[in-house]
Amino acid sequence: MQIIDGKKISQKIKDEVKEEVAQLKAEGKDIALAVIQVGADPASSVYVRNKKRACEYVGIESVSYELPEETTQEELMAIVDKCNKDSKINGILVQLPLPKHLDEDEVLLAIDPKKDVDGFHPVSVGNMVIGEKGFLPCTPAGVIQLLKRSGVEIDGKECVVVGRSNIVGKPMAMLLLRENGTVTICHSHTKDLKEVCKRADILVAAIGKPKFFNRDYIKEGAVVIDVGIHRNEQNKLCGDVDRDDVMDLVSAITPVPGGVGPMTIAMLMYNCVEAVRLQKTER
Ligand code: NDP
Repeated sequence: MQIIDGKKISQKIKDEVKEEVAQLKAEGKDIALAVIQVGADPASSVYVRNKKRACEYVGIESVSYELPEETTQEELMAIVDKCNKDSKINGILVQLPLPKHLDEDEVLLAIDPKKDVDGFHPVSVGNMVIGEKGFLPCTPAGVIQLLKRSGVEIDGKECVVVGRSNIVGKPMAMLLLRENGTVTICHSHTKDLKEVCKRADILVAAIGKPKFFNRDYIKEGAVVIDVGIHRNEQNKLCGDVDRDDVMDLVSAITPVPGGVGPMTIAMLMYNCVEAVRLQKTER
């Protein structure tokens, strides 16, 4: 049984990015990421801090916008516009969720697709679906890297993704399809979820319910990717999978913490370098 080490693999990716950043710097090209946060949601602040730390590690400049909770839509749109126009800014990241009075869709749509390092703009989504160049959303792209770099073959495998959100489930399914997996997407209306999951050679759990997936959902020898992340009553992190219950069944599994989580930030760093490549091409 293999524990898929997201910490180690994400470190490797960050080191690869660091080298590319150094190479670009040697050619006279600095990379900068604008990080926009509205309000002071504690979880968001932790994510933003980790993203800035990763930028520092790989040599990318992070330009921080820490805006007050009461920021208006117009003010936020003006900052996005300014970052779009600033040729020194290569990537724009708006930390989600935004406070309720702000229109998230309008903000994400306003980001220049060539700076859309989160990969949430409809242009990025479209490019991903048709297999064109563009940004891939960080969490599912990180899962693909985890599988590939752990030697897990996707081609021809039964892949079951549970969850269909725009940031995890749907793009996850699309990326597995791109790798020639046979993909099933499940959600809260799926009938016989256990039976569908039991078909999976590769099961991706992304529903946001702590320890939901026990051994009844797992085929012997399956590879299990646990995207969920929760804090339990003892303030310890756990995933969507009941790890202790499934350990003896699986052939490989990602731990929580130290599995998918660290990959998301590593792929964001990768996308910042990708931004420079995309910006070199014609609009
Ligand atoms: P959402 O809440 O947006 O989506 C959850 C999805 O799971 C929905 O499609 C929902 O179905 C489905 N679902 C919920 N309950 C069930 C059920 N009982 N049976 C089948 N399907 C179900 O969550 P996200 O996709 O944003 O995130 C999922 C998890 O991943 C969360 O724990 C989140 O914290 C974590 N996460 C981790 C990241 C990382 O870096 N490690 C990054 C992003 C997320 P329906 O559409 O029918 O409602």
